[in-house]
Amino acid sequence: MSTATDPASSGSAALGGGRPSSAPGTERRRLGVRLLTPEGAVFDGVAYMVVAPSVQGEVGILPRHTPFIAFLRMGETRIKLLDDTEQVFATTEGYLSVEEDRVLVLVEQAERAEDIDFERARAALERAEADLAAAGDDEVKRVAAESARRRAENRLAVVSRR
Ligand code: ATP
Repeated sequence: MSTATDPASSGSAALGGGRPSSAPGTERRRLGVRLLTPEGAVFDGVAYMVVAPSVQGEVGILPRHTPFIAFLRMGETRIKLLDDTEQVFATTEGYLSVEEDRVLVLVEQAERAEDIDFERARAALERAEADLAAAGDDEVKRVAAESARRRAENRLAVVSRR
C-alpha cells in the first residue's frame, strides 16, 4: 500500500508528503487528530504524525496524506506532537481514517501509557491465564479469557516499552 508504510522499517518519516521538522521560517503543517472510544475523546488536538497498528502493519500518517482508511489491530498508537514529544496509547481494535489532514482513530478502548496500572494488568494477565486453563471445552469462557489475556499483554507491552 503506497499511502501507508511502516516508518520503523523504512526509516522514512516523509510519508504522505509531510516532513518531521519545519524549515526555517515556515510553519510545520499539522494534522487534526481525534482518538475516540465509546466513552469519549482520549485525545483531541493537533499533531504532525500518527503511527498506528493497522492489520496490515504499522502505518505512519503525516500531513497531506491521501484519503485513507485502515482497520486497526490491538497494539500501540503514537501521536507525535508539534513540540516533538509524543503521546503513546494502548489501543484495542478499531479503525483509522484520514481526510484532509484530519485523522480519526476510533477504538473500543484506549489508555494513555502513563495511565496504565502495571500491577493491575499483571494481575489481569494471571487471572486470564488461570481462566483459560479452567475453561476446558467452554468456548465462551475460552474466548473471554483469551480476549482478557490479549488486553493485559498489550497494556504490559506498552508500559514496558516506556
Ligand atoms: P481488569 O480485570 O483489570 O479490569 P480488563 O482487561 O478486564 O482488566 P477492561 O474491561 O478491558 O479491563 O477495561 C475496563 C476499564 O478499565 C477500561 O476503561 C480500561 O481502559 C480500564 N483499564 C483496564 N485495565 C487497566 C489498566 N491496567 N490500567 C489502566 N486502565 C485499565
